[in-house]
Amino acid sequence: MVQGKVALVTGSTSGIGLAVARQLAGSGAAVMLNGFGDAAEIEKLRAGLAQEFGVPVRYSGADMSQPEEIVAMVEETERELGAVDILVNNAGIQFVSPVDEFPPAKWEQILSINLSSNFYTIRAALPGMKSRGWGRIVNIASAHGLVASPFKSAYVAAKHGVLGLTKTVALEAAEAAITCNAICPGYVKTPLVEGQIRDQAKAHGMSEDRVVREVILASQPNKRFVESQAIGDIVLFLCSPAADSITGIALPVEGGWTAR
Ligand code: NAD
Repeated sequence: MVQGKVALVTGSTSGIGLAVARQLAGSGAAVMLNGFGDAAEIEKLRAGLAQEFGVPVRYSGADMSQPEEIVAMVEETERELGAVDILVNNAGIQFVSPVDEFPPAKWEQILSINLSSNFYTIRAALPGMKSRGWGRIVNIASAHGLVASPFKSAYVAAKHGVLGLTKTVALEAAEAAITCNAICPGYVKTPLVEGQIRDQAKAHGMSEDRVVREVILASQPNKRFVESQAIGDIVLFLCSPAADSITGIALPVEGGWTAR
């Protein structure tokens, strides 16, 4: 299905992005990793994936808040691995604060990493997909692309924006056999959410277990974290022939959260 294809996964040194990159490599795709972290750890990760799955794996440290670094990352992918067939926009950060106290610099940073980076990667990768008449773009949005929670104004605004961009690109690219979809996960236990659990425990003077039960999973009716591997499976499904006619959707993967 993705054998021999070239996949670029932003924010793939950790969490959901890493799980997605692993599954794409495990299914035979060449992968460009991206994200921050300790250089030696990232190199171990890159070499480990290449060796375990026998596919080319490269790494770009491009900062997703910097448009020119994004363009350079797509060009580097084309040079090193070939033109991007599968683009997974996953890099994202969170910051929690009442809107009237929200630091403007944080707002700008979240909008640029969580939303604008998707525009810049798509803009740079789409011509290559069009010229080959096939492409898959998967944007990792969030349940917060569909509904809001208090104190997450920038994150919620950015993720709602990702869904608008997803639908627009889907319409523009449909005739070229390129699909563009968004996945909207509920809570997945990754370093991003572990940070929120720690912060909330401190803020409410509660144990971390209690925060998970009463705060974090309060909105998730099945009371279970989503597994990051499930997100990787869904990306693979969206890259499969069964999903050829699925485009422009926002797929909730959140244990029923947005059914309320
Ligand atoms: P994470 O913190 O584990 O990983 C985030 C990744 O993005 C890391 O590789 C990090 O280095 C990278 N990154 C951060 N800033 C970057 C930048 N400026 N440039 C390049 N890379 C950057 O987070 P996660 O939980 O795996 O989240 C991944 C995506 O999934 C995010 O877009 C997040 O909003 C979304 N999401 C997460 C959850 C959840 O519960 N964890 C739920 C819904 C949506």
